[in-house]
Amino acid sequence: MSASPAPARHARPSGLRRFLSERPPRPERCELCAVAVAEADHRHLVDTEKRALVCACAACALLMEQPGAAAGRFRTVPARYLTDPGHRLDESAWEALQIPVGVAFLFRNAALDRLVALYPSPAGATESELEPATWTDVLGGSRLAELLEPDVEALLLRRTDGRCECHLVPIDICYELVGRMRLLWQGFDGGSEARAALDAFFVDVARRARPVDEAVRP
Ligand SMILES: [Zn+2]
Ligand SMILES: [Zn+2]
Repeated sequence: MSASPAPARHARPSGLRRFLSERPPRPERCELCAVAVAEADHRHLVDTEKRALVCACAACALLMEQPGAAAGRFRTVPARYLTDPGHRLDESAWEALQIPVGVAFLFRNAALDRLVALYPSPAGATESELEPATWTDVLGGSRLAELLEPDVEALLLRRTDGRCECHLVPIDICYELVGRMRLLWQGFDGGSEARAALDAFFVDVARRARPVDEAVRP
């Protein structure tokens, strides 16, 4: 007699087996040199050709910080978080930006020479292009806008109770936040879980941020 499959009652639940075989433990790796990196805490590069974020080990991130590395294709996302206590955006600035939700990231795309606003929504990241005149009106006098590195950093804006906060942040955390928001978002305003995640995110940003004067002092 030929070998027949084990009776169903002896088989392990197929759902679990399938889950195990489809998701083997896979450490996250540097996409340049393939060394394993800590999943929750590693650097990122921006691949300016593909307009994509690339995971990187500390050594590759350091290497790509050197001017001229990889002909400028990969740019290391800086680790700095800055705040400017002396500069406040008012309500009219927010109106001028025409951002429908309470949170937005503004950045400059060097290759396309565009100013972009990115904000979370139920559909994921939503982008809109900003007119250079709007950017100048709203952020022209801002130290943070002056210091902003194209492609790799963003200005993070949040409006709460008629007050508008602005931070300069690494661009990778913007995409992480937008991804998390898409998973948690419910209903029209995001719901309580999304708001709690957003609050935790801003507590972390505030903890990391240094005042701009302190940061640029030699
Ligand atoms: Zn590496
Ligand atoms: Zn990564």
